[in-house]
Amino acid sequence: MMATTHGFVALAAATLALPVLSEYVSAPVVLTVAFLGGVAPDLDLAAVHRRTLHFPVLGPVSAVVAGAMAIAVPTQWTVAAAVFLGGAALHASSDVLGGSAEHEPWNPTTERGVYNHALGRWHRPRRVVPYSGAPADLLFAAPFAAVTVLSTATGRSADGTVLALFVGSAGYVLVRKRLGAVVAALQRTLPIR
Ligand SMILES: [Zn+2]
Repeated sequence: MMATTHGFVALAAATLALPVLSEYVSAPVVLTVAFLGGVAPDLDLAAVHRRTLHFPVLGPVSAVVAGAMAIAVPTQWTVAAAVFLGGAALHASSDVLGGSAEHEPWNPTTERGVYNHALGRWHRPRRVVPYSGAPADLLFAAPFAAVTVLSTATGRSADGTVLALFVGSAGYVLVRKRLGAVVAALQRTLPIR
């Protein structure tokens, strides 16, 4: 699934918990940290995607530990850490619902969904969302984005940012299959290394 889809899922969860969380961390910071935690695992696109920074078991475990710490010692730092790790855990544990981790996942050649470090093997992709950037990906993301946009707990700037990110994601879905050709064309015309 798209990084932004995971960001919207984390945002929706943070939005629902906002009345409690905002006692310790300001609402804009909670939402920003949740979104960043939600997208963070996909930074491993530069390494071994869905393996280096995706922890489908250790992620949720560390999020639960951080959550327990935040309940025991609620400060802005422990709460923010729990929100960040919670977002990352939701990402890593739900990526198995998507397609395979490869360049053209709509023509799959592997059965690599997400790597389980605890078991030392890949989970096969369940393809509920057939591939990252599929129209179904945007459809899956929509209700989560809507939770934040429609919530009265979130301010106008947060709602506007989420809407802009959703429109950006829609644009990505439109060009997803041509992305390889677009990048190749850019590399021919621009001196990108
Ligand atoms: Zn991912």
